[in-house]
Amino acid sequence: MTQNIAFIGLGNMGGPMAKNLIKNDFKVTVYDLNAHVVADLKAAGANTADNAKAAIKDADVIISMLPNGAIVKSLYIGNNGLINEVKDDVLIIDSSTIAADDARAVAKACERKGIAMIDAPVSGGTAAAEAGTLTFICGGEPAHFEAAKLVLSAMGRHIFHAGASGAGQVAKICNNMLLAIHMVGTAEALNMGAQQGLDPKVMSEIMKASSGNNWSLQVYNPFPGVMPNVPSSNDYQGGFMVDLMSKDLGLSQELAAKSKSATPLGAMATQLYQIHQAAGAGGKDFSSILQLFQKK
Ligand code: NAD
Repeated sequence: MTQNIAFIGLGNMGGPMAKNLIKNDFKVTVYDLNAHVVADLKAAGANTADNAKAAIKDADVIISMLPNGAIVKSLYIGNNGLINEVKDDVLIIDSSTIAADDARAVAKACERKGIAMIDAPVSGGTAAAEAGTLTFICGGEPAHFEAAKLVLSAMGRHIFHAGASGAGQVAKICNNMLLAIHMVGTAEALNMGAQQGLDPKVMSEIMKASSGNNWSLQVYNPFPGVMPNVPSSNDYQGGFMVDLMSKDLGLSQELAAKSKSATPLGAMATQLYQIHQAAGAGGKDFSSILQLFQKK
C-alpha cells in the first residue's frame, strides 16, 4: 500500500527531496510558510495544505526539513504541537540540521506518546537533494530506522544508523566541522601558492596526487576557474551558504563545550566563518572562505 507522506519545509533542500518522493510514486502532501514553494510542489504533483496540521492529517510518515531547532521543537512539541494531532502509527523523520539535544527533546516527547521518531540530517547539499543521492545520518530506535529506509532511499544513496536519538545530529555536526576545517586549509594552501605565482589548477592536481588530497580539492575546489560546475566558478552562488555553515559550526562548539571535547581547529574555523559572515558573505557558498585570505 502506498504510504501517505506529509512534507514540511520546502526550501533549497526540502523542495527537491519532496519532488523525488513524488517521482518514486509516494503520495505527498506538502506545507511551507512560503506560498511560492508550495505552488512549485503543486505543479510537480503534490497535494497541498494550508497549515501543518492539515498536511499531517492522514500521514503515515511526516518529514520535516526546517532551518533550526527552535522551529522544529515548536512544530512538534510547542503549543498545539503536531504530536497531539498525528495518527498513532505515524513515523516522524526530521531531516533538519539541529542540536542533538533539540532532536532528543522531540524524540522523548514522541516516546512518551508511543510515537516513532528519528533524526535523519543529511549530507550532500542541493545538487544531491535534486539527484536523490543524499547521505542520511540517522539516530533513533533500530526498528524506527528500518521503517524509515524505504522512504529515505527515494531521496538518498547512503543511509546510516549512527546510534540512539540525537546520534544522527552528532555525526552530522562532526562531519560538517571537519568539512569546514579542510575547506579552510585547502583555501589557505591554494591562496598561498597562487600568491607565489603558481597556477591553482596545477597546484590542485599536485595536491590531489599527494598527501594533501581531500574532498574539497577533489569535488569542490574553492579557487575560481579550477573546476567547472562548482560555486567558486559561479561567483560563489548556490551550494551551501556561509550562514548555514556558521550555524553548524556554532552547533559544533556547543557540543564541544557540553562534552568537554577539545576542538581547537573547529573553534578556529568557527571564528573564521563568523568573520567572513560579518563581512557580508553570509549568502555566498562556504568555499568563498578563500576570499578572506586573498589580497584585496
Ligand atoms: P531553506 O531556508 O532554503 O528552507 C527552509 C524552508 O522552511 C523555507 O522554505 C521556509 O519557508 C520553511 N519554513 C520555516 N519555518 C517553517 C514553519 N514553521 N512551517 C513550515 N515551513 C517553514 O533551508 P535549506 O537550505 O532547505 O535547509 C534546511 C535544513 O537542511 C537546514 O537545517 C540546513 O542546515 C540543512 N541542510 C542544508 C544543506 C544545504 O546545502 N542547503 C545541506 C545539508 C543540510
